[in-house]
Formats: sequence, structure tokens, C-alpha cells
Amino acid sequence: MSKPTRALVLFSGGQDSTTCLAYALTQYDHVETIGFNYGQRHEVEMACRIEVLNALRAQFPAWAARLGEDHCLDLNLLGQISDTALTRQKQIEFDAKQIPSTFVPARNLLFFTFAAALAYRRQLTCLVGGMCETDYSGYPDCRDNTLKSLQVTLSLGMDSPIVIDTPLMWLDKAATWGWAQHLGGQAFIELIRLKTHTCYLGDHETLHDWGYGCGTCPACELRKQGYVTYMKLPQSV
Ligand code: ZN
Repeated sequence: MSKPTRALVLFSGGQDSTTCLAYALTQYDHVETIGFNYGQRHEVEMACRIEVLNALRAQFPAWAARLGEDHCLDLNLLGQISDTALTRQKQIEFDAKQIPSTFVPARNLLFFTFAAALAYRRQLTCLVGGMCETDYSGYPDCRDNTLKSLQVTLSLGMDSPIVIDTPLMWLDKAATWGWAQHLGGQAFIELIRLKTHTCYLGDHETLHDWGYGCGTCPACELRKQGYVTYMKLPQSV
């Protein structure tokens, strides 16, 4: 198979998927985005997606030229089969395997499978996602082997080769900030800081150096620690 030129980015409006989107816009000729609405307790995430897309289009003309349609799928049915802190008003806890209650079982497998079905229809042959084993919060469906296996399954199941590209897989959060700087300079760092959303609790009111969030949930902790480490690196200034 030849190198894919048309990609679909799994785009949530968070730091990781926004960095992946910038990467895709430097790597592929035509890039579309897909988001999933599944009754997140942080509805703010869905609003941030649009804000990030608008800001990217306005501030980065070369990327805007490659950025195509945004798709949003309604996966509210996930609420019927999971009982988690992301889809219901309940405290985030950790189980015996240190998996947080924000985990929706096999969520990424479902997301990629729906994305692949849409990609097939849109003639997009690469799926880009921000999954990461380094800071993966114990989610087994973020593992590199899980996604490599899914790539094979989807390619066989649709009888059409599809590549799953996960550029953040081996980066930690500080390296992800550094890579964002490399991709889009300080303007892109500011866009991530002010427009993206990561907080599990949906706090988009409290602004810190590293962006908006409650500052104490596991997602904010990761983002904050990554930013603090990144700012100590020589290339970040
Ligand atoms: Zn938070």
C-alpha cells in the first residue's frame, strides 16, 4: 500500500488530540476530524472542539488549507452500558488495578471502529489518535499492541487497508508539550493552553499556566506535571 495522504483525526478538543491534529496537518494532504458525544459530564469538551478548530483555521493558514470537514457522532448509548465517572455525576476512584472509574471499557476500540467506518465512506485511509502508553492512566485499549491488532482487524474487516497512526504513543506529557512547540511554535502552545480542555471535572473557568482546569483531578495533574517539566527544558524558552 502507498503512504496514506488522507487522514481522519480522533479529535476531542483536548491537549493530546489537538497536538495530533497539528501533526496530521503537517503530514497528510487532507485531514478531517471526528468527535464523539457520549453524554460526557464535561459538555464543555464538545464546545472546545469547535473553538480549537476555528482558532487553528484563523491562525495557521497552511494548516487551514488541509483541514476538511468535522464530523460528530452521537454515542450516547455508551451511557447505557457503562457506569463511570465520565458519564455520570460520581466521584473518580481507582480500582485494584489502578484503573480510574473514568474508564469506559473498550471505549477506544469503539471509537476507532466507528471512525474506520466513516473513514471508509470518506476515502480516508489513516486514523490518527492521541493514545499513549507512557501516561496512559492504565487504559488497556490505549496500548500500542491493542491498536496494532485493531489496525489489522479493521483492514481485514473492511477489505481495505487502513493505518492507525498514534504519534504520541511513546511520548510523556512534557515531550508532548515540546512537540507542540516544534509543530506550531509559541502561538500553538498558547492555543493549546487557552483553547483545549482536559479536566475530567469540566472546569473551564480556572486558568493556570498550563491551561484551564480544576488542577486536582488525574487529567489536570498529568497536564500540569507535563507542563512544569516542559518549562524546565532548555528548548521551551
Ligand atoms: Zn481537573
